Amino acid sequence: MHYRQTRAEISSSAIQHNAKWVRRKMAGGKLLGVVKADGYGHGVVPAVNALEELVDGMAAGFMEEALAVRETGYKGPLVILEGCFSATELNLCCEHQLSPVVHCEQQLEYIEQAKLTSPLWVWLKVDTGMHRLGWSEEQAPQALKRLRASKNVAGVTLMSHLANADAEHRLNARQKQQFCQLSETLKDYQARSFHNSAGLLNPDTQWSLQDNDWARAGLLLYGVNPSTVTEVQAELKPAMRLVAPVIALHQLEKGESVGYGSGWSADKPSVIATVAMGYADGYPRQAENGTPAMVRGKRVGLAGRVSMDMLTIDVTGIENLQLGDDVELWGPNIDVREVAACADTISWHLLTGVSGRVPRVLV
Ligand SMILES: *Cc1c(COP(=O)(O)O)cnc(C)c1O
Repeated sequence: MHYRQTRAEISSSAIQHNAKWVRRKMAGGKLLGVVKADGYGHGVVPAVNALEELVDGMAAGFMEEALAVRETGYKGPLVILEGCFSATELNLCCEHQLSPVVHCEQQLEYIEQAKLTSPLWVWLKVDTGMHRLGWSEEQAPQALKRLRASKNVAGVTLMSHLANADAEHRLNARQKQQFCQLSETLKDYQARSFHNSAGLLNPDTQWSLQDNDWARAGLLLYGVNPSTVTEVQAELKPAMRLVAPVIALHQLEKGESVGYGSGWSADKPSVIATVAMGYADGYPRQAENGTPAMVRGKRVGLAGRVSMDMLTIDVTGIENLQLGDDVELWGPNIDVREVAACADTISWHLLTGVSGRVPRVLV
């Protein structure tokens, strides 16, 4: 039972709309639906259920997340993006048919030394400039050779990750060129994967995907444009609507202030609504005055510091406002990217940061 009206409404049909949109955008190739971090905060169960029929595979961050995806009943290809960190995990990969990423010597040795009951499909990660995970260009041929020589390996997908696909950056074209070059020199692999959501949209990183090319899309599936280069937001449907009720209304005189640190002052007689949403719910404390929200169909602005359980908005001039009215903090009407910009962060951070005390409600 939830007494508190605060909630994240999750739309399966929006996720499905976005998945179909991504597929059209890709034109060819295979789609890996990224459902790490509890389906980008939407809940792994609704995310997997919505995507199951529309993707060719899914990706989790690490073993616990992959097992949570399997618990939903999903049986298709499932990649572990950080790979395995013990022999036990490799055995679990066998048991649950998971495909680990292999990005370093230790992971390769685990594979070589394991006694698996059936061979695994693995994703060999090469570093083309991000310098976070993966083998260098020089190391990659030897790593691939050793994987192909192992009886524990059924096939290899060659992958790399983009560092700047959301923006214009000189590294974009370079990473693409290096990956394409590498995938021509290294012949003994079965598939490859380069694009994240933004990589699919960025002219510097795009290519026409072939049958054995996997795109790894996360953010786009949840209806948010990852790109600062291409504007496609109108074609997407945000799958999360973060909502909380008005729980108090206050009339302020000119010069009176609101909240911790008295961070906002009325420059005229004003009405302030207190909303049951705080940083313990995942709303960013860094959000500045004026950060948008919507109530009664009107855009309003944050007024004063976000506190743990509550925030305050300036509702001066909004007619018929009542206690219990829903306020949209982000969703179809309030672009999460705009909220993120007002809090000096990114939409991925806000969506995945909605905390466990906010019930996810399927709509
Ligand atoms: C999270 C992740 C993705 C998905 O990224 P989006 O920007 O959300 O599309 C793709 N590839 C890797 C390796 C990731 O870790």
